[in-house]
Amino acid sequence: MAFDYDPQNIFARILRGEIPNKTVYENDHALAFEDIAPQAPVHVLVIPKGAYMSLDHFAMEATAEEQVGFMQAVAEVCKQINAEDGFRAIANTRDHGGQEVPHYHLHILAGQPLGKMLAI
Ligand code: 5GP
Repeated sequence: MAFDYDPQNIFARILRGEIPNKTVYENDHALAFEDIAPQAPVHVLVIPKGAYMSLDHFAMEATAEEQVGFMQAVAEVCKQINAEDGFRAIANTRDHGGQEVPHYHLHILAGQPLGKMLAI
């Protein structure tokens, strides 16, 4: 499968500093920031700094260093939220997954019981 990354997507623009964000954590390979339309008391997005469209694109083509950096950002976010009570991590992917922004992002939702996993 070919991954055709659009450098004008909104998260690419956030990474370039063209659009402000509420940063939660940042390292060389990843940025974590608050979702603009939170769907839970805690709603953080973790994105890689590289040009990856989706979880599968990132898993297949990101370097080991990028993947470690991304997971370190996830760990830091988990330290900052009330992870003891639990949370949900979601990677919406392409059309069937309901992905709107074509830059890989992991939603981390927490702060209240989140109900069942799917409502189709
Ligand atoms: P998706 O549906 O692609 O998995 O999720 C995209 C998410 O990006 C949505 O939850 C949406 O609220 C968030 N989002 C879209 N535009 C912006 C923005 O400009 N800033 C921030 N912080 N979040 C955004």
